[in-house]
Amino acid sequence: MKKYKGKTVYRGIATGPALVMKKNVDSVKRYEIADAEAEIARVSEAAEVLQGQMRKLYDKAVREVGKASAEIFEGYQMMLEDKDYLDSIHNIIRHEMVNAEYAVAVTGDHFSEMFSHMDDEYMKARAADVKDISNRLIRSLGGSQDVGSASADPVVIVADDLSPGEMMQMDKSKILAIVTVRGSVDSHTAILARMMNIPALIGVPLDLEELCSGMITVVDGFQSEVTFEPTEEERGRVEKIIEEEQEKKKLLQMLKGRENRTLDGRTIAIYANIGSVADVEDVLENDAGGIGLFRSEFLYLERSDFPSEEEQFHVYRQVLQNMAEKKVVIRTLDIGADKQADYFNLGKEENPALGYRAIRICLDRPDIFKTQLRALLRAAVYGNLAVMYPMITSVEEVERIYAVVDEVCSELREKGIPYRKPEQGIMIETPAAVMISDDLAQVVDFFSIGTNDLTQYTLAVDRRSERMDAYYNPHHKAILRMIKMVTDNAHAAGKWVGICGELGADVELTGEFLRMGVDELSVAPSMVLKVRQRVRETTVKE
Ligand code: PEP
Ligand code: MG
Repeated sequence: MKKYKGKTVYRGIATGPALVMKKNVDSVKRYEIADAEAEIARVSEAAEVLQGQMRKLYDKAVREVGKASAEIFEGYQMMLEDKDYLDSIHNIIRHEMVNAEYAVAVTGDHFSEMFSHMDDEYMKARAADVKDISNRLIRSLGGSQDVGSASADPVVIVADDLSPGEMMQMDKSKILAIVTVRGSVDSHTAILARMMNIPALIGVPLDLEELCSGMITVVDGFQSEVTFEPTEEERGRVEKIIEEEQEKKKLLQMLKGRENRTLDGRTIAIYANIGSVADVEDVLENDAGGIGLFRSEFLYLERSDFPSEEEQFHVYRQVLQNMAEKKVVIRTLDIGADKQADYFNLGKEENPALGYRAIRICLDRPDIFKTQLRALLRAAVYGNLAVMYPMITSVEEVERIYAVVDEVCSELREKGIPYRKPEQGIMIETPAAVMISDDLAQVVDFFSIGTNDLTQYTLAVDRRSERMDAYYNPHHKAILRMIKMVTDNAHAAGKWVGICGELGADVELTGEFLRMGVDELSVAPSMVLKVRQRVRETTVKE
């Protein structure tokens, strides 16, 4: 039995076999082999297994996000049969007498480089695909199955680090828990784990080389520890806690259908945060009053090319229809910083969180922004949509956004395409937006406070830095005063204000938020009933 301590991202407990993601594809080892034909046979077998996985992923994607979005997996299948691609791998193995993984990595790099220099935009965009399929093939050669594979059994993911993009591509129903060596509690990967309701630990000092896939693993988010090959006694202890947790969940279920009302009659809306259509099921299951934040950028992260207007329209419409008439706040693309997709070619920056991200990219690339806005405005016809813009720092930015929205409205009108102009609000997540929230409140319909970034920018602490975790304090007086100031300014202008950052789910502060007059809290679906419970125990007028 081996036990390690880490930091808890999501307080839950789970046990099952580990899937150790040892391979860093960028550092695939090269070694010489004796039998080239046997090595080539290995490639064929791995490609066949991968073909099967891609077929299943295709079917799953067709069901969940529509045929257009699923095409990527069809493209992957074609690539695995491409003669030039396979010839290149075989030639490297035969001529250099080297291992298959190395030959695939070199071929993947070579093809991706070649595609990225082509003039044709479509071919350019294939550069990331060929890299991705090569990485999958390397993993398949190592005998490990992609977590996206529909045939894999549920596992505890053990990895050095995971990017939000990698998380999005995993099949959540196959993940029991996540353990990583690196990462920070406030990163988007951590937020995704909370949103997906997956027990997770980060900063666990593991040597991945010492671990094997299949090892029975216990992840205990309450004690912040992970145990490999637990003793019988340890397994018994954990099973007991799992049962107790299920009991607590059952008790919380009794709060379904109840009001979010304090003991002295004050009410507050409790909405949920989502990252995909699939999360809506959890939102309804946990009886959230609406969706307060749909991070639309995750749509872009789970793929290797821009989602088209039709694909986005399909997703937004589905979310709105599934939520019936409940409010759905969709945030426009907040890409950049730790949310990177290769095909955006954003380039390297010294301080990406202070750089080219979110609304700055959208205002700079109207082609991308207008595609998303068209999809949103068309989908608005099907439900109660509100659109929200991220990383706002000035009134001028809002005016520029409105000009683009008006252009989109005129274009849709001219073409006779049905649309509706939704409620429009902004994220308050920069100190600048807080300080001018009185002016901003005059021009928008609502505010939603993004405490994750607001904490990072106010306290000058990189939310992704493990070293700075101790300094990242969203309870800081400065943040709480900012929330109060924003709330007062919103109310003075007759606008509503919510909190959609992680702090909204912090039940230690629920009373304080109620006293400040915050109108809405948007939290991970699994936190909705816990926050409701806290609201119902609270008295505001003390
Ligand atoms: C925030 O910054 O608080 C927020 C909700 O946005 P994100 O975490 O996606 O940056
Ligand atoms: Mg943010």
